[in-house]
Amino acid sequence: MPFDLTRHPFPPRFRSLRLAARTELVPGFVRVRLQADGPLDGFTSPGAGDHLRVFVPEAPAWASVAVDEAGHPTGESRTETIVAFDAEAGWVDLDILVHPADDAGDAGRIGPWAASAPLGSPVVLADPKGSVVLTGTPAAFVIVGDASAIPAIRRYLRMLAASPRGLVVLETAFDPASLDLDLGPGIELRVQAPDPAHPSSSLVAELASLAAEQPPAGADPARPDLGPDVFVFACAEQSVVAPARALLAAWGIAPERAVAKGYWKRRAA
Ligand SMILES: Cc1cc2nc3c(=O)[nH]c(=O)nc-3n(C[C@H](O)[C@H](O)[C@H](O)COP(=O)(O)OP(=O)(O)OC[C@H]3O[C@@H](n4cnc5c(N)ncnc54)[C@H](O)[C@@H]3O)c2cc1C
Repeated sequence: MPFDLTRHPFPPRFRSLRLAARTELVPGFVRVRLQADGPLDGFTSPGAGDHLRVFVPEAPAWASVAVDEAGHPTGESRTETIVAFDAEAGWVDLDILVHPADDAGDAGRIGPWAASAPLGSPVVLADPKGSVVLTGTPAAFVIVGDASAIPAIRRYLRMLAASPRGLVVLETAFDPASLDLDLGPGIELRVQAPDPAHPSSSLVAELASLAAEQPPAGADPARPDLGPDVFVFACAEQSVVAPARALLAAWGIAPERAVAKGYWKRRAA
């Protein structure tokens, strides 16, 4: 049951939309619907981890997004995973974590906007730079992530529904039953409690212990050079990247056949 991961670049494009609706999925996690005035021509998202950049206005007015003469946004952006979209109807849904303020009193930019900006507040999106598309069905998969990766994990689990074996390790304080994760038979879910002082530390430990084990059985007989037919996704705080790469090396999986990424970086205290 081999699989492939292929990368498809997309042309750069900015789009103006408005905050059209918000739904609290669980306290601290908000789904926002962003609506354009017309269709989102050329917008697509075939890959489970597809993400775009979001420019939101500054609090407290949340009234406008700063742009240059060319109409390109000039302020800070945040990268968020595409949860769902309808290009013809002109909307995109994103699930945004709302963090408590850190020790320096910084609650972030997009979290407060997603939680509190008035409906109608403007937003500018930069289209995904590209897409990583998984086709086929791996014999097994390992998914490791924190709450920021839940939207991508949700989409990957749907794409991997035919895989007979899978392990999902999730570091989150949210009740997994409320996260709409498709966990079919043969899929093991391990939930780890986050340690705010050491984000992703439980995931780092899980990755190290997996690296000491044999990979799940299964290989593509036609392509023995590709290593085990196991798809690995590991995305969370930046500290997961090195142990994720070590796991790939230990299991003989080429890095381009996996997804390992820092979704955010803890600020130095
Ligand atoms: C490819 C990719 C996809 C992503 N997809 C999503 C997504 O779908 N949903 C989503 O919510 N985020 C996602 N992220 C993370 C996102 O880019 C931002 O980091 C996040 O939205 C926080 O932005 P902010 O403006 O609210 O806070 P920031 O200004 O970035 O940070 C404010 C404070 O919160 C802390 N903080 C930031 N993120 C976290 C966290 N995850 N856990 C604990 N503390 C944190 C910071 O250290 C800081 O102290 C993704 C990142 C990448 C690279």
